[in-house]
Amino acid sequence: MRVHAHGKINLYLDVLDRRPDGYTNIETIFQTVSLHDTLTFDKRDHELVLTCSDASLEVDASNLVLRAATILQARTSCDKGVCVHLEKRIPVAGGMAGGSVDAAATLHALNKLWDLGLDDAALHNCALELGSDVPYCLTGGTMAATGRGEHLQRIEPLPKTWFVVVQPALGISAGDVYKHPALTRNTEDVASGRTSSFESALNKLRSGRVSDVLFNRMESAIFVMHPGLAELKEAMTHEGCVAAIVSGSGPTLMGLCESETDALRISKSFSDLDVSVTRTTDCSIVIG
Ligand code: ATP
Repeated sequence: MRVHAHGKINLYLDVLDRRPDGYTNIETIFQTVSLHDTLTFDKRDHELVLTCSDASLEVDASNLVLRAATILQARTSCDKGVCVHLEKRIPVAGGMAGGSVDAAATLHALNKLWDLGLDDAALHNCALELGSDVPYCLTGGTMAATGRGEHLQRIEPLPKTWFVVVQPALGISAGDVYKHPALTRNTEDVASGRTSSFESALNKLRSGRVSDVLFNRMESAIFVMHPGLAELKEAMTHEGCVAAIVSGSGPTLMGLCESETDALRISKSFSDLDVSVTRTTDCSIVIG
């Protein structure tokens, strides 16, 4: 079984209060993009085996693919095995949920391959145990999310939109961003479920003003940690992007473009870096 697992970007990401359970409440708009990993699943009797095209990525029990398989085995008392090959294209620790979507792909694939018959609610529970972005990655598309990212509401898909993706050669831990003193938090009232800033961003998106929506609260801390990223963001708009934004906890920078032609032209200006072009898409997991 062959599965494409698509990365995401956060068109909007706001940081709210820290909760007693240690998680932080966020308000975000997730969007799936065409950039994807490919996973191939082959049945085995009992063992769980993982191989990966990226030699820098651990293929032991810490990998989210094997963690997802192990959770499914434990939840269903299943003793079947699998051999998975992971062709990695989504930048690792880049803020594009590469690990989370590999985990979501594994939950879907093994639910079928092992005939587990888990429904959407059961898969959602397994996903949340694996990480805050994994429930979104089970379906993908354009979604508003609150809580730690698991309360999801589908919103009208965007028209096809093109981005230049620049991947600086550094990894940023989301934990370090949350702890950074330069990180500000939105303290607006959430009695109605969402802050008025988030409502306003969703209204702008409904009226098609994507460039007015782009916002990432984490940039305040990320740019103090890595000032070069602020310069790179400016260079992207200078080269012709309508706007540029750090994706999630970074360091990947996404430049919004008017067209595919513009995206391809602008990407050439960053050819000394790890650069690609991607577009929005409606589904994070494609089986077959
Ligand atoms: P998010 O956007 O959800 O915060 P991210 O894109 O910043 O995630 P990932 O690529 O998902 O980050 O990786 C986060 C960590 O998870 C890395 O340190 C990596 O070593 C580990 N990891 C475990 N399994 C995987 C996997 N299959 N692919 C990528 N990273 C993995």
